[in-house]
Amino acid sequence: MPITENILDRKTVNKTETVSSANQYTTLPQCHSTPSELRVICAGAGAAGLLVAYKMKKLFTNYELVCYEKNPHIAGTWYENRYPGCACDVPAHAYTFSFEPNPNWSTFYTYGPGIRKYFKDFAAKHELMPHIKLNSRVLSATWIEEGGMYEVEVQSDSKSIRDRCHVLVNGTGFFNSKTVTVIGTGSSAIQIIPQIQKTAKHLVAFMRSAKATSPSSSTTQLLGAQYHFTEEEKRRFRDDPEYHLLYRQKLESSVNALFDMYIRGSETSKQTEALMRYEMLRRIGPGHEELKNKENVTTVHKELVKVVPEGVIDDSGILHKVDILICATGFNLAFAPPFEVRGVNGVTMADEFCPEPNVYLALTVPKFPNYFVINGVRGNWVAGTALPSHEVQAKYILKCAKKIQEESIRAFEHIDAWHKQSVWSAGCKSWYKNNVLGGKLWIWGGSALHYMKTMKEVKYEHYNIRYRNKNMWAYLGNERVRAEIVQDAGKLAPYMRNSDVPWTID
Ligand SMILES: Cc1cc2nc3c(=O)[nH]c(=O)nc-3n(C[C@H](O)[C@H](O)[C@H](O)COP(=O)(O)OP(=O)(O)OC[C@H]3O[C@@H](n4cnc5c(N)ncnc54)[C@H](O)[C@@H]3O)c2cc1C
Repeated sequence: MPITENILDRKTVNKTETVSSANQYTTLPQCHSTPSELRVICAGAGAAGLLVAYKMKKLFTNYELVCYEKNPHIAGTWYENRYPGCACDVPAHAYTFSFEPNPNWSTFYTYGPGIRKYFKDFAAKHELMPHIKLNSRVLSATWIEEGGMYEVEVQSDSKSIRDRCHVLVNGTGFFNSKTVTVIGTGSSAIQIIPQIQKTAKHLVAFMRSAKATSPSSSTTQLLGAQYHFTEEEKRRFRDDPEYHLLYRQKLESSVNALFDMYIRGSETSKQTEALMRYEMLRRIGPGHEELKNKENVTTVHKELVKVVPEGVIDDSGILHKVDILICATGFNLAFAPPFEVRGVNGVTMADEFCPEPNVYLALTVPKFPNYFVINGVRGNWVAGTALPSHEVQAKYILKCAKKIQEESIRAFEHIDAWHKQSVWSAGCKSWYKNNVLGGKLWIWGGSALHYMKTMKEVKYEHYNIRYRNKNMWAYLGNERVRAEIVQDAGKLAPYMRNSDVPWTID
């Protein structure tokens, strides 16, 4: 979006700066909090990038936004994960932006293509594509203190380009891209294997550890089984938004209510553990329950040690002839951004994150002014559904961006007892712990609602704010607000109301 010229400031503002000679008290020749030109770059156009684009369009004027997306399509992880059976673990009606319901989900749990369509339709409906540049990978970003901007290097199609922004949002998600090859018994393998088995001539499933598997999704036991919505149900969701909202609120509440199971020793945790043990023990042993008695399946409970042209060799030296190899060996967590970021005095984020990431509220990083991350390390990855947490993070970031834009700010810079009582602190390995046995937990220490409440207001006192002008009050301008300058009669007494509802001054 091109920066709109601020005609108001040019025409109506007294150009003489107000100066008090005693203390060089200089204000800007503009009305109170006039939004300055703001340029924002977001890396990524998954759910996070789309949210930033949508919310900026709604809340900002005088801005430019570019979401650089390395893939040829939007939708992020749901574009990258297109393996057979790829699905969302939470009910479809709970996996939408909170303000953008979808009455047309065809199943209770939705599959990858449905989610890709949801994001594509969202971008089309809100005309977000002009803000998105596909096939464009952010390579690096370097903070320039004097200008209060990042210089950003982007590989766009086959060209290398340089861009600049006042605010840099990292919306690149926390999973590094993975290679597909079926080795593994984790959550991806559980989705892939039954699908591949239906069509494969023969499937060799490598299951090094005879892993205990929770019900095809633990949530199905707790929230409900897969189900096809009837046309009548979809019509009711479409025609009766209040009914649909109640349904969604009930589902979301059920997801949030599950949080108690993560508190070690709680009644819910004990009950869930008993249920899981029963279900998982049924599924332990020669292989997945779904694969038992399938003639075209061989399960191998050995370690795969070598890949050769004819197939793969296990640790007892046996060759298993295969044509296609699918790796479902897990995700690598991306703590540091997938591009180089240089902050104050040239420090790199990779160095600052070594040996451990140093982040504030999972959103900002000391020494990296005006840099924000959505769904970053210490974020809310496990409790509730991801999208509402993305929304509060986007809102938090844009509150800061608005302050930067309106208060002439140049630089906006800036956790772990709780986990001891959570189930995640038990002596096991997981990607929440960066795959370190008994390692430090890199997830939010509380429920989804707890996270969202924390993010609702920005604690500006936790930031070191550096202004563009010597006088931090310069943005107060020429003693007038916009409504007075444009003589907008309807906005000259916004606080006169019939009831105690919120009001703002334009
Ligand atoms: C199989 C699977 C099942 C899931 N199930 C659930 C679930 O049930 N419930 C739930 O809440 N969440 C689930 N998730 C989590 C899901 O990741 C989030 O819900 C959400 O989609 C993440 O969105 P995002 O925009 O933060 O990240 P992503 O979707 O990962 O998007 C990041 C984007 O950044 C781009 N990018 C990366 N590096 C660069 C770069 N250098 N330059 C430019 N662009 C770059 C990527 O190409 C990508 O498009 C699941 C994820 C997977 C993979």
